Amino acid sequence: MGEESSELQCRECVDLLADYVDGTLPRAQAELLDWHLDGCAPCVAFVNTYKGTVDAARRLRETKIPPELHRKLVTFLQRSAHTESRP
Ligand SMILES: [Zn+2]
Repeated sequence: MGEESSELQCRECVDLLADYVDGTLPRAQAELLDWHLDGCAPCVAFVNTYKGTVDAARRLRETKIPPELHRKLVTFLQRSAHTESRP
């Protein structure tokens, strides 16, 4: 009989995934997570989604938007938001 307590639950995995994707998770825990991901499709899907989000955020940070364009973009977004909220 396996020891249930030594197995990671999905809820615990979600807590570890941020560090796991960042590569800052301690090796022992990363291995437990790897093992869990091996047999848990929902968690694999979550990792992929999380990785995608992180990659997108990194790409956004690397792309430098000129301040003027940024200001125009904010103004544009504010204006369209106002228009939409109007009755
Ligand atoms: Zn899981």
